Amino acid sequence: MEFEMENGRRAIGELCAKIEERGRRTLLSFPDFIDLAVAFPERIFRNIFQMFYDMMHSYIDLGVDEYPDDPESIKYVPYDCSRLLEEGTDRPFFGDRLFVNRLMEHISSFRRGIRQNRIYIFEGPHGCGKSTFLNNVLMKFEKYSETDEGASYETVWRLNRKLLGNGTDQTAQLLVEQLRNIVDRSAGEFKPPESAPAEFAGKQWLEIACPSHDSPLLLIPKAYRKDFFEALIADRSFKHKLFSHKQYEWVFKDSPCTICQSLYHALLDILDSPSKVFEMVFARRTLFNRRLGTGISVFNPGDRPDRMNIVSDDHIQNQLNTLLMDSNRVRYLYSRYANTNNGIYAVMDIKDHNKERFGNLHGIISEGVHKVDSIEENVNSLFFALMNPEDRENISDTQSFADRITYVKIPYVLDYNTEIKIYKNIFGNQIQKYFLPRVLENFAKIIISSRLNPQSTAMAEWIPDPGHYRNYCDRNLLLLKMDIYAGVIPAWLSEEDRKNFTAKKRRKIIAESESEGDRGFTGRDSIRMFNEFYQAYMKKDKPITMAMLNIYFKKHCCAEGPVAPDFFDALSALYDYTILQEVKEALYDYNEENISRQIQNYLFAVNFEIGQTQKCHYTNEELKITEELFDAIEGKVLGNRSPAEKRKAFRKEAQNIYASKTLAREILIEGKHVTQTGLYQSLHDRYVHNLKENVLDPFLKNDNFRGAVKDYMTESFKTYDKRIREDVSLLMGNLRARFGYSENSAKEVCLYVIDNGLAKKFTEQ
Ligand SMILES: [Zn+2]
Repeated sequence: MEFEMENGRRAIGELCAKIEERGRRTLLSFPDFIDLAVAFPERIFRNIFQMFYDMMHSYIDLGVDEYPDDPESIKYVPYDCSRLLEEGTDRPFFGDRLFVNRLMEHISSFRRGIRQNRIYIFEGPHGCGKSTFLNNVLMKFEKYSETDEGASYETVWRLNRKLLGNGTDQTAQLLVEQLRNIVDRSAGEFKPPESAPAEFAGKQWLEIACPSHDSPLLLIPKAYRKDFFEALIADRSFKHKLFSHKQYEWVFKDSPCTICQSLYHALLDILDSPSKVFEMVFARRTLFNRRLGTGISVFNPGDRPDRMNIVSDDHIQNQLNTLLMDSNRVRYLYSRYANTNNGIYAVMDIKDHNKERFGNLHGIISEGVHKVDSIEENVNSLFFALMNPEDRENISDTQSFADRITYVKIPYVLDYNTEIKIYKNIFGNQIQKYFLPRVLENFAKIIISSRLNPQSTAMAEWIPDPGHYRNYCDRNLLLLKMDIYAGVIPAWLSEEDRKNFTAKKRRKIIAESESEGDRGFTGRDSIRMFNEFYQAYMKKDKPITMAMLNIYFKKHCCAEGPVAPDFFDALSALYDYTILQEVKEALYDYNEENISRQIQNYLFAVNFEIGQTQKCHYTNEELKITEELFDAIEGKVLGNRSPAEKRKAFRKEAQNIYASKTLAREILIEGKHVTQTGLYQSLHDRYVHNLKENVLDPFLKNDNFRGAVKDYMTESFKTYDKRIREDVSLLMGNLRARFGYSENSAKEVCLYVIDNGLAKKFTEQ
């Protein structure tokens, strides 16, 4: 028995040691805090806006820019928000590329230092997931604040009784104070003296935490801050930022709360020494805890407003009065808003009680101060609200602070990749394998098309004649727009339209998304429809095809449905075009080394007369300069039927460019390898393009080709000649490896291409 008791005691002892280790709330003396500021200035010199910015960036990863060298790029990049909004949440939120780019743009202002007197309203229709979004962000903010990287510090006063000179014999003084307090009360109601004296007498000091969570940095008198930090900060690059960036203005301009300020002055009067005052200043980690309502306050529409907005504490007030021997110097009084100073104040849907709450924010947001009794309280909070579009009328009487509101639209998903992610999250990743490649994507595209504006000024300005693309795209160019929203510039765009796709036009198109996604199939609709479709068509042995998609949606979207009828036809046409490209790509025997060697030899050979023999500097091959050597490349680049004079002219032009630019400048001066030069690149691109374009022709003429595809992986396949077996095997292998087909679906898609004469359909344009 005794032994067990020993065990218990030891276990608890160990537990407590661990808890202490983890306790991040230990107090730091002011000098220790300043040491920390020198060691980690980026963390310590940080207000709520800067901290929120850092939090977002610590959880969000920048994806790979698909077009890094695009001179017209508007940095519409893929952010990976899975750590912020999905992992470890009760319910993941899938933000599409448009929303996340919009969000990050707003967040970037948090470190640009524009004074943040504003409220951010996330506005989106029912079921867009805005509350899930905000809940997940706030949860990750709390988590971040618990890490070293996310540390933030607030002021705590430790008023040392001995140092303040009223050591042991204070009872009489205290009673006088209390009496005076009682008499002072205008209401005249009598309260018996609190238990303060007894409790107080046992403690060495009175601890008061700043109710506004002020940084201890603010206790350095404003007049001395510049000199102090100038001498203190060693990190030159940080010092430069601190003194010149707008985001750090608060360090020099902000004042501590009235409680800290009056305490500071009172103590200075009593102690007559700033250093003694600073001995009573401590720092501790700020606790952000939504459930406890510290640092983060979240209000639901049904939460009744507190009866008393002003908070005081007679107990603490009495002790202060005793210690400072004066009841008027420090008034321990603050409002509920103080709690989220340097924190986050969030109003879920603006309705019911939240209407009033929202209205009350007016003064605070525009002035950054709030009157508590006769005292002015600073409130610098990050204000968030959520709103349904139909609730806009609830804030119509707050017109006066309309310019303090930033709306961040959070519509239904408009990026098909994100839409697919949502299906996969609900139905599992395996759904992909029951679809032919691209068909799942097309399901998402149909859903998204219903959410877009049918007409787009920005798209019309960019491409005035959409008829040009009737073989790949719908009349309203929704398919093109969707690709752009997903960050894709499709390959079928003409050279000219691609050139015209300027940064300005891109911005305009992306901006249009803010007025979309509030109609069409809702998030809930699309999940229900996907479920219905998937249950009906999912078969173990037969992948889901475009034809099935068309049957299903035509049943659901009659003439006046949310999807335009021509959209289905266009989607099928684009699908046909895309798989044709895939088959060509897969059939093309990509011998890059061979192609590269041929082009290098050609570039070298154009400088010599026919009949000579020369050793190529680039490939070290002995070249017999013949018409055939030139023909091999020119036929590929210009087409086999190009006339001789056209080839001669081309050759001469190539020789000119080679001599004047490629060799003289790029190779000799800029030190480029021949394969990095402009001429090489352009020849290479045209060569490869034409190779691929015509790769199917010989096969389509061969009657055995279809049969070999059909019999692939069966006994009969062996009866075909070696050449065709090799080609078909290459085709099937590449379709699987590069485009995600299975053995069966690769066969299926090839037969589809052959039987529907797709090669012919797309060359006859
Ligand atoms: Zn304070």
